[in-house]
Amino acid sequence: MIRDWANRYRNHPVSDRHRAHHARMAQFPSHPARLAALAANELRWRGPACPNHPKSPRWTSSGQCEACNRERSLRQSQRRTRRIPIYLHPALLAAREAGAKHWAGPPCRHGHDGVRYVAGGFACVRCVNKRTAHVG
Ligand SMILES: [Zn+2]
Ligand SMILES: [Zn+2]
Repeated sequence: MIRDWANRYRNHPVSDRHRAHHARMAQFPSHPARLAALAANELRWRGPACPNHPKSPRWTSSGQCEACNRERSLRQSQRRTRRIPIYLHPALLAAREAGAKHWAGPPCRHGHDGVRYVAGGFACVRCVNKRTAHVG
């Protein structure tokens, strides 16, 4: 399976810019073991030990430690999901509890001050007013 994917990727037309980018970013660009792995179309190679993961292999394409790469992408996905979803916003829950119609949330993506409706999908009050003004 992985082999198939690697073959497909290898035949994928990669732009010269992309190739140059990889060459620039690659670690140990001229390490003999990496060049041998490249020549043999191996996905991974055994390079100098990573200080954090002495047992982890490295990616042939980038020369980077596989475990380091995995941890980095994990951190990035955690950063993406760290924001609380808006429907769990404490101010919204408090406003709903109090029976209020509006609540002060984060600024909307149009730069409004963040006054939002408790009902109806937490829409920005300013945005909705602007929209209905056009319709009227
Ligand atoms: Zn590592
Ligand atoms: Zn808005």
